[in-house]
This record gives sequence, structure tokens and C-alpha cells, in this order.
Amino acid sequence: MVFPFSSITDFSIKLDEEHELFRKAVREFVESKVMPRWQEIERENRIPEDIIEAMKEQGFFGVGIPEEYGGQGGGQLTTAILVEEVSRAVPALGVTLGVNHLFVVPILLFGSEEQKKRYVTPIAQGEARGAHANTEPTGGSDVAGIQTRARRVNDHYVITGRKVFISGAGDADYLVVSARTSPPREDKRWWGISVFIVEKGYPGLKIGQQFKVMGMRGEQPYEVILDEVKVPAENLVGPENEGFKVIVTTYDHTRIGIAAQAVGIAQAAFEKALNYALQRETFGQLLIQHQMIIQKLADMYMRLEAARLLTYWAASLADQGKKEFIVAASLAKAFATEAAEWIARQAIQIHGGYGVDVETGVERYLRDAIITTIYEGTNEIQRLTIVRQLVRQAFGLKI
Ligand SMILES: Cc1cc2nc3c(=O)[nH]c(=O)nc-3n(C[C@H](O)[C@H](O)[C@H](O)COP(=O)(O)OP(=O)(O)OC[C@H]3O[C@@H](n4cnc5c(N)ncnc54)[C@H](O)[C@@H]3O)c2cc1C
Repeated sequence: MVFPFSSITDFSIKLDEEHELFRKAVREFVESKVMPRWQEIERENRIPEDIIEAMKEQGFFGVGIPEEYGGQGGGQLTTAILVEEVSRAVPALGVTLGVNHLFVVPILLFGSEEQKKRYVTPIAQGEARGAHANTEPTGGSDVAGIQTRARRVNDHYVITGRKVFISGAGDADYLVVSARTSPPREDKRWWGISVFIVEKGYPGLKIGQQFKVMGMRGEQPYEVILDEVKVPAENLVGPENEGFKVIVTTYDHTRIGIAAQAVGIAQAAFEKALNYALQRETFGQLLIQHQMIIQKLADMYMRLEAARLLTYWAASLADQGKKEFIVAASLAKAFATEAAEWIARQAIQIHGGYGVDVETGVERYLRDAIITTIYEGTNEIQRLTIVRQLVRQAFGLKI
């Protein structure tokens, strides 16, 4: 036993030639269609519609979604490669892809066959966009503490509440929404939450203010208001009152995508710093000849590759259906996002004054990386999950 894993084979990463061909194709697309537009996206704070259309044509919205629901198939590793490559150019595009996954994953894991056909297929084919509305003004980490209410009335539910920081809500045709359907049980605080699919056109659903957050320009989150929104009973995802499991199991899967966003950001920041160090001269020497700069670059590179390995490993375990992927996903998310933040900070330092000049496009990596440490479970929450999963895996204990 390789504590707490059962065998060293659990550490294998199942990458093959198809993954590499796919990565090359995505990189080619991103370098020609997205990279030249990063300044426009930062300035306008919006992803241009023609980029979204081009991504649809490439089939990117169907990656990771089974072929039977209109997707390209491909699993978590392929999805991680896609998200890493787009995030290397414009991390907000990783969010655009990620919010669709936050919508389809709970339906793929817990939804009915009818829900999958009706809601997943249009997303996979790029005909519709999704969003995921869980966080509320009173808290995001504590999913059991949500205050949005849903009451059953005959053949439908009526939902009332307010959600904040909902990425992609402004463009979404459908949203998954969490709400409390019953009071918590004394021994199970999480019990009594349910998850619903809400369509854009349902009366009472309003997309409120757009938040102005420090990074991920192009994909700023929204407020979502639900005022007595009538939702058909068949839009309940998974069993009534068991929605907490739907939400947290979704994040177990989707947080690998956040780790991949971070790897893309870290890769971009590292490449920029390395190139600059090879060109800039100080005191009659290239930057890369100064030992202190060499040390920074070596440490950046170490963390970058460790982050990538953890991310591919978590994705690979998930694709193999191994339950150990949960702890791996949290390790990858926390490590990769903190590595990206640190690498982005070093990249700024290596660029000196130009590092903090907005036009050089280096400081944006730090703004984007910090956000990855917060959403889809803050890194404090990842640390809780890591130790809880470790103890459960190794000793079968619940703490
Ligand atoms: C740009 C952006 C996009 C987002 N997109 C979405 C989205 O699409 N859908 C969605 O539902 N949400 C979204 N969120 C919300 C995000 O998931 C939450 O902000 C996050 O989960 C943290 O919740 P909170 O902000 O309420 O912080 P809190 O939960 O109030 O936490 C505050 C601080 O306390 C720490 N903390 C909390 N509990 C504990 C504990 N038990 N032990 C130790 N420390 C703890 C946290 O780590 C954090 O540092 C987005 C957020 C941002 C910034």
C-alpha cells in the first residue's frame, strides 16, 4: 500500500497520442484566434461573439460530454487539456467553458434521461449556454447554509431567493439552482436542499447586477434573483432533499477544471518571464545570467510542472472511475491555483516596471490566478476536503 493509495498504479496518468493531437489543435486555434485579442477582451470586459462562435464550430462546448448527448466525449483529461490551453491565452475563456460544465455535470451525474436529452444536448452542440447558481449573499463555502427556498405546489415548485457571483448567468439559457425544500434534520444539516433546472424565460427569474471582480475580465459574474419562480416538478435534479450531494459531487468533478485554468495561467506567466529573461540586459548581462533570476525561474518551473502533473493525475483518476480522484482533485486545485498565483507574482518581478504595466499583459495573470484560489471551493475548503478524504480513505473514519 502506498499510503493512503492502494497501489503505485494509482499514480499513473493515462495520456496518449490522441490527447497530444487534440492539444496541438486547440493551441493552433487559440494562437490564431484568441491570443491576438487579449487586449480587446481586457478592455471591453466581454468575450467577442465571434470567438464564441468559432469555439462552437470547433466543437469545444461538447468536449467532456458523452456522444449520446451530442458531445465529443473525451472525459476529464481531454477537458483539462482544453481548459489549460484556452486559459494560457485568455483565462476567462476557461470560465466560459467551465460554467457550461457546472451546468451539465449535475445533470449527467444525477439527472433523468429526459433532462439529459433536453438540456445537455443543446449545450454540447453550442446551441445553448448554462450557468450554476449556488452561492448566496450570506455564504458560498457553507452549501448547507443556503437560504433560497423552494416549495412544492401540485406539479411544480416555487423558488424564491437571491444568488451572487454567478458566472455566465447573463448569457445563460438554463441555470441549475440550489434551494432549500425542507428544514435541516438535527443530525444532518445538509439534508433538505434540492437542485432544479431553471430556464431563462421562466417568469420571476431576473439577472441582476454584474459584479466587477479584479480578474477574469470577459467573464464577470452576476447576481441572480428568483422571485416566486414556478419550475415544473420534472426539473428537479436528483432526489428531493438530497441536493447537497448533487452540488458537492459536481464540484469534486469540476474543480479539476479550475486546476487546469491555473496551469494555463502559470504556463503563460512562466513563458513570458523566461522569454523576457532571455532578452533583457542589466549590468551588462542578460537577466537569465543573474543567479537570483535563475533561482526564480527554476522554482517557477518546478511548481508549474508539479501543478500540471497533479491536475492530469486527478483527471486521469476520474476518467478511470477511481474514487481517489476526489482527494486528487482537491490537491490539484489548491496546489495549482497557489502555484499560478506565485508564478504570476514572480513573472511580474522578473519584468520589473514592465511587469506592472497593464499593456504588457503580465499583471493580468496575477489578478486571474487569485480568483482561481477562491471559486469552486476556496483553498481553505480544499484543505478540509483533503484531510477528511485522507482519513476516510486510509482509516475509514469520518471526521
Ligand atoms: C469570479 C467569481 C465567480 C464565481 N462564480 C460562481 C458561480 O458560477 N456559481 C456559484 O454558485 N458561485 C460562484 N462564485 C462564488 C464562489 O464559489 C464563492 O465566492 C466561494 O465559494 C466562497 O464563498 P464566499 O465568497 O461566500 O466566502 P465564505 O464562504 O464567506 O468564506 C470567507 C472566507 O472564510 C473561509 N472559510 C469559510 N468556511 C471555512 C471553514 N470551515 N474553515 C476555514 N475557512 C473557512 C473561506 O475559505 C474564505 O477565505 C464565484 C466567485 C467569484 C469570485
